[in-house]
Amino acid sequence: MKPTGKCFCGCGQSIKGKAFFIASHDRRAESKVIKARYGSIAQFVVAHGYGPDHPNGGAPGR
Ligand SMILES: [Zn+2]
Repeated sequence: MKPTGKCFCGCGQSIKGKAFFIASHDRRAESKVIKARYGSIAQFVVAHGYGPDHPNGGAPGR
């Protein structure tokens, strides 16, 4: 994947150079996807095998 000159968060603003995001828009894009797909950051980390019992990741339910 390569930068396109437009911010990847979807705001439509253009960027100079090889950045994917305008400053701090990467965070905005992250939380948008996480909330849409998982509902919350807690559900997101657990769905990927992380969470309070698996700080470094691991198989869920182990
Ligand atoms: Zn943006």
